[in-house]
Amino acid sequence: MSIVKTKNLIYEYLRRDEEGNVEGVNRAVDDVSLQVRQGEFIAIVGHNGSGKSTLAKHVNAILQPTRGTVWVDGIDTSQEDRVWAIRQRAGMVFQNPDNQIIGQLVEEDVGFGPENLGVPTEEIWKRVEESLRAVGMYQYRSHSPNRLSGGQKQRVSIAGVLAMRPQCIVLDEPTAMLDPSGRKEVIHAVRELNSREKVTVILITHYMEEVIYADHVYVMDQGRVAMEGTPREIFSRVEELQKLRLDVPQVTLLAYELQQRGISLPQGILTTQELVKALKRQEWPGAKREDAPHTDADSVNVSAILEEAGGTQAGEEAQYGTDH
Ligand code: ADP
Ligand code: MG
Repeated sequence: MSIVKTKNLIYEYLRRDEEGNVEGVNRAVDDVSLQVRQGEFIAIVGHNGSGKSTLAKHVNAILQPTRGTVWVDGIDTSQEDRVWAIRQRAGMVFQNPDNQIIGQLVEEDVGFGPENLGVPTEEIWKRVEESLRAVGMYQYRSHSPNRLSGGQKQRVSIAGVLAMRPQCIVLDEPTAMLDPSGRKEVIHAVRELNSREKVTVILITHYMEEVIYADHVYVMDQGRVAMEGTPREIFSRVEELQKLRLDVPQVTLLAYELQQRGISLPQGILTTQELVKALKRQEWPGAKREDAPHTDADSVNVSAILEEAGGTQAGEEAQYGTDH
């Protein structure tokens, strides 16, 4: 069964004039049908205003569909008396960690959710410990959240959601306000949750490098799903992505540019390692393999292209790890 399912979901914000009269509607989500299976890692990308947050808020029953249906673990989110059942199953992490942390101490903050659910004290401590360990923040349990870095705060927010034992976590641009090392920490924690704790992840992001770990990617544009597929499928459609004003990972772009200049490479290269491997299979000047297919490689100045593309992101795998 799907943990999250939407069918022909439409959401319209009402536009009001100065007197508060409705003068029109703004369709933010336009006929979206998607299914997320338990344990999957889903990424949703799209330009600003494409409807990602509006869609995400339906999974947590913060918003109700204007038309269409959303189910979380089979529960129709329009059933108002099931809101807490839904929120317990699908937790939400937002962009700004400062708005999500309320406790004086890290462990207190993480315990807040289960406490509200009426979980017995002993069980709360167990969950706090497990959740903090899962995001690598256990050693900070008695620190004040105020003094943590952005990435650490965001990991505490994630632990707070985890302590509710949700089947699914929706993260709405959780790294948008973080520096590169904070982004790295958070994405690492999210991947661990998914692979180790088997929590279903719906990651909304505009950093395309974060998308490569997903099982399935949805690209949104003007409230609709404009593209969907595996990261490899999505990233082999470079021109379409660019039309949707989205970046592709630099290494994917580099592979694409090399292809454009006559080097034959597989579609949708995602990591530097993959590109290096593919390039090694090429025939280069001075190479001995007579049977290798001929390419225009001789006439291509790879270092110039690398420079043009702004470097190869050599640190990319080291940053996020490649073991997904
Ligand atoms: P994203 O998260 O992809 O940036 P949003 O879901 O926030 O997109 O917004 C989708 C569309 O809905 C945009 O056109 C935005 O201006 C509009 N919108 C978002 N929130 C509101 C709101 N509270 N009232 C009216 N319009 C809104
Ligand atoms: Mg948003």
